[in-house]
Amino acid sequence: MAFEQLKSKLEANGFQVTTFPTGEAAAAYLNQAIDHTTVGMGGSVTLTELGLQQSLSAHNILYNHGFSPCSADMARDLAAGAEVYVLSANGIAADTGEIINIDGCGNRAASSLYGHKKVYFVAGKNKISPDFPSALQRVRNVVAPQNAQRLHRKTPCAAKGDRCYNCSSPERICNGLVVLYKKMQSMDMEVVLIDQELGY
Ligand code: SF4
Repeated sequence: MAFEQLKSKLEANGFQVTTFPTGEAAAAYLNQAIDHTTVGMGGSVTLTELGLQQSLSAHNILYNHGFSPCSADMARDLAAGAEVYVLSANGIAADTGEIINIDGCGNRAASSLYGHKKVYFVAGKNKISPDFPSALQRVRNVVAPQNAQRLHRKTPCAAKGDRCYNCSSPERICNGLVVLYKKMQSMDMEVVLIDQELGY
């Protein structure tokens, strides 16, 4: 995939952008860039597929609610105060360079807005949609239902696996939507684009 056009859109929005042909190359870069610091990490199939919980925790202090030995709530609290935060992007609009994330608990979305020195968004090419409406449609009707199934949530989308039903389930995973039109003022933000399908 040619990332040049998207890269220039993201850069125009204030994001640093790095591109890699493989997840292995991206993971090597992130392990070099993030070293001897504290790292918060959101729940992410992409980051798990890259093995970043294991590799980054070998030379950083990592807080991730699915990986750290402490309780999930404590890991989320500690991750919120980390120097660096790493998450994926649920969707990216190619024509505008906007980044979309949807969240149930809010820790990941909040950390994409404030509280760190630097945030890294790590995304495979499957996260890229032509424009904002198609990106939002994909996030709501493909990404969220697949994540609900993965997490075994009692939601209609997890049961049927076809689309969002805008449910009122107590286990609903998409309670908030963050759209980054541009980089937030208070911290550096880098988008790591990978020419592979990763996550949902
Ligand atoms: S609102 Fe409910 S049905 Fe729709 S994707 Fe989220 S959890 Fe699934």
